[in-house]
Amino acid sequence: AMKVLVSCGSDVKCDRLLGRVAKLNKSGSFEALFCIGSLHSGDGESTQSSFLSGDSPLPIATYVFGAVPDGVDASLENLHLLGTYGFTTVGKLSVVYYIESSVPNQSVSGEKRTRDQTDEDFSSLEALVKSKDLPCDILITSSWPAGVLNNIQRKDYPADQKDTGNSPTGSSNVTKLNQICQPRYHFVTNSRTPGETAPASSQVYFERIPFKHMSASHVCRFISIPEIDTKGQKWLYASNITPIEEMKEEQLAQIPPHTTESPFVVNSAPEPALKKFKPEEPATLKVHSSYGAFGSLSGGGEENEDSWSHHRYNHEYRDGRNSKPKKIDRCWFCIDSDDVAEHLIASIGDECYLALPKGGLVPDHLLIIPLDHITNPYDLKKETFAEIARYKQSLGEYGKKSGKNFVFFERNVRTQYGMVHYLIQCVPVPESTSSEEIQRKFEEISRVQYQISYQVLSNRDEIRSHVKKNTQYFVAELPDKRCLLHLVKNSRRHPLQLGREVLAEVIGHPERKNWKECELNQQEEIKLAAQFKGAYKPYDFTLA
Ligand SMILES: [Zn+2]
Repeated sequence: AMKVLVSCGSDVKCDRLLGRVAKLNKSGSFEALFCIGSLHSGDGESTQSSFLSGDSPLPIATYVFGAVPDGVDASLENLHLLGTYGFTTVGKLSVVYYIESSVPNQSVSGEKRTRDQTDEDFSSLEALVKSKDLPCDILITSSWPAGVLNNIQRKDYPADQKDTGNSPTGSSNVTKLNQICQPRYHFVTNSRTPGETAPASSQVYFERIPFKHMSASHVCRFISIPEIDTKGQKWLYASNITPIEEMKEEQLAQIPPHTTESPFVVNSAPEPALKKFKPEEPATLKVHSSYGAFGSLSGGGEENEDSWSHHRYNHEYRDGRNSKPKKIDRCWFCIDSDDVAEHLIASIGDECYLALPKGGLVPDHLLIIPLDHITNPYDLKKETFAEIARYKQSLGEYGKKSGKNFVFFERNVRTQYGMVHYLIQCVPVPESTSSEEIQRKFEEISRVQYQISYQVLSNRDEIRSHVKKNTQYFVAELPDKRCLLHLVKNSRRHPLQLGREVLAEVIGHPERKNWKECELNQQEEIKLAAQFKGAYKPYDFTLA
């Protein structure tokens, strides 16, 4: 399989893109970046990128599908300029691409092209593709295929088109190309198709429910990516794609749940989900168990609820000491992970993002999560600290509006998987509950149930004088900014649910202390996330 990143580019934001890619790829796990679009600002005023001028090396093999920008040295190491249409292979992945353009531009060979040559291009591409081994792995186009939203319900439309129900006109050439190539992945940018009346969503990330090709056994995943740096949207798609030639037939024929029929055959009575396909394990289940495995989210698989009863304590502890940490090869909180719960993300900044947890204690229970895979707050850059503080502050302002104060807590404790992705839990409590009352609850429950006590700090910054690089700790930040710090000794375990358990008491809902009992189905989660995003919007500094 090949780990690839896909973006929709323009040269203005080239540095932003390549900077993010370099960051994501620090571990060197990605093999290629696909950049769809002309790398052309469109208004003639291009900012010269240090990457494209050769001043900085490209962080990763970069494949540009689109017109060749002026002044770019095509011989740069790692840069592959592929022009506006063709067939190519990247590693073992076969890729067909067709970038239509409404402005005159140049093809790779340098001859001038104009709008009326588009049909000619398409005919030669069609002939070329038909001479190749099909189906292909990936189809890349600048336009949406006409009719791609057929056979799905309005609620599954792109976020900005649910209300209007407008379906983008799309390009019939692209539809034809999809039918010929039968790609497993079809990536599109959101640029307007020349001459179309209803443009495709330009500002939102959209992944259509997979559909089954008409005359093939496999499905197509249609993914539309917004312009680089679109605030609050995923604009860099990461995936692990196995080339068709390495797939067994039964793998290829696996049909994900809810798969629809091809949108390019319009039924008179559309039936969105084909019942005859036997679904593989539902995606929601996978996410659920992943969150559980991480525990740090709010509870779950790491320890059983009753493992704190005394007779089991020693037993579990012995087991824990004798076994090495279990290895994990995926992280559910890395923004570029295939398994991040996309629909729960509420805001994306430059350093961190904001997401709802599974089974939140209250509807606006949130997590602040660094974009980078940081497992130790000691390793956080000052920019990241600063953005965490901005998120805390904006949540504070958001809470004030509805008479709530936020309590933040972090549990930086080794799990059976080692140290996991650092994150901060954010839970609003009624303004009428004083910091002293919250403090008393923390102290009382911790002492009585777990023999844990706290030192009181005057603010979060003070923690630095108590915590060294490998110190394990739990800290709760009260509305008056004072912090309750507990240092966890290496030989001790720390109750996974403590912060949540205390705050469930504080808000008068002790029955909600277990996240599993508060879990919602995916539709409800999507609704909850949308509600929060709407209410938080005026305070979201990433949208400003
Ligand atoms: Zn991570």
